[in-house]
Amino acid sequence: MSLHLAPPARRPGRVPARAGLRYLVRTFGCQMNEHDSERVAGLLASDGMIPAAVLDEADVVFLNTCCIRENADDRLYGTLGHLKAAKKRRPGLRIVVGGCLAQKDRDQVQERAPWVDVVFGTHNLHRVLDLLDHADEWGPVTEICESAPAEEGFAADLPARRELAHSAWVTITVGCDNSCTFCIVPLVRGPEVSRRPGEIIEEVRRLAADGVVEVTLLGQNVNSYGRDLGVDGRRRPVFADLLRRVGEVPGIRRVRFTSPHPKDIREDVARAMAETPAVCEHLHLPLQSGSARVLRAMQRGYTPARFLQRLAMMRAAVPGLAVTTDIIVGFPGETEGDFRATLEVMEEAAFDGAYTFIFSPRPGTPAASLEGQVDPAVAAERFARLADLQQRSSLAGNRALVGREVEVLTEGPSRKDPAMATARTRTNKVVHLPGVFPPGTFLQARLVRAAPSHLMGRPVP
Ligand code: SF4
Repeated sequence: MSLHLAPPARRPGRVPARAGLRYLVRTFGCQMNEHDSERVAGLLASDGMIPAAVLDEADVVFLNTCCIRENADDRLYGTLGHLKAAKKRRPGLRIVVGGCLAQKDRDQVQERAPWVDVVFGTHNLHRVLDLLDHADEWGPVTEICESAPAEEGFAADLPARRELAHSAWVTITVGCDNSCTFCIVPLVRGPEVSRRPGEIIEEVRRLAADGVVEVTLLGQNVNSYGRDLGVDGRRRPVFADLLRRVGEVPGIRRVRFTSPHPKDIREDVARAMAETPAVCEHLHLPLQSGSARVLRAMQRGYTPARFLQRLAMMRAAVPGLAVTTDIIVGFPGETEGDFRATLEVMEEAAFDGAYTFIFSPRPGTPAASLEGQVDPAVAAERFARLADLQQRSSLAGNRALVGREVEVLTEGPSRKDPAMATARTRTNKVVHLPGVFPPGTFLQARLVRAAPSHLMGRPVP
């Protein structure tokens, strides 16, 4: 897939030192990590580097690690095991590890894999070039900050190599003040820090001037945006206002955000979504479990009834709203009754899509040491039932759209058939349609067929 380089924002005074060298980026994890990877790629490009297609071509390999859901340790150290041989063959190869797992494991990364040249934490990505210089000059280096420096934490002016030229992530908060018992984010990303609204709008304006038509506002809990920004008794900025302001930036035709927290989403956000034409009719609202008991053990701060109430409020306010969610199966202590409660809430919520996970303990989180860990075979069986229900729900939702004409935004050729284009609706549904269109083309499409994960469409002349 082609990558788009935003105008380089090289640090003043730095002469590009790696012109013509090649870099490879591997990202594990969430959108926050993908966005961080884009910024590291942008920094490397601002130093004169170009992307490598394969490992053997790369002079710098950057692994952006995640410790939220996957078997993070296995994946990282497995990949580093493969890289050991490459480093032996080519000692000049620089191996860089960043992201959540690096933040959590700190010095252990280089203890376990001494062939790694640079390790940096979630608050240090803007330092990647300096750290590479240090490694060239002095040898391996680890740099981890405990928390985001108030202004630098967003590394806002870093260049980014976007995967799609027309679409960009925009960070609005980093860190999280909640304490969900399964989640490692507060530990590795620190407390929540909001970015000033003027700075966000300025970035969105710059992106629009660079041809971006779609932005996704990123935060661990976007609804608590601005809580830390109130000064001198002035009204502090809130997420609903930010949505409206971003939606007014000329050239931006689609505004998305992820993720809101069910305990914090309010009517002001629903109204902002409904009244701001650029804000898309899609909401990712993570349920996690439909059992009140399990939600309490997760410390999520809402009951299933409250979740459904908030969902109904959002759907009433935003016509045609598509809703996706996250579900964790097999949380410690989850009984068959708890799991059935999740299925019931899912039936009632009729989600358009769900990211479903089997619970796996994250060392350092409270849930890792809870009693009643669920037998993996039981969790796997529940997972299959959940996936089956969600497939049916997604298919029903997509079938209801067949025959409609919708606006889609193309992303490029379909992976399976280059004669087809892949696009997305405003509701974030994937649509495949015949024809070749440049990425970033807005089209009207008639939806003609539905599958659980996508729709087929035809361009409307
Ligand atoms: S809201 Fe909960 S799940 Fe989300 S990042 Fe914060 S602690 Fe983790």
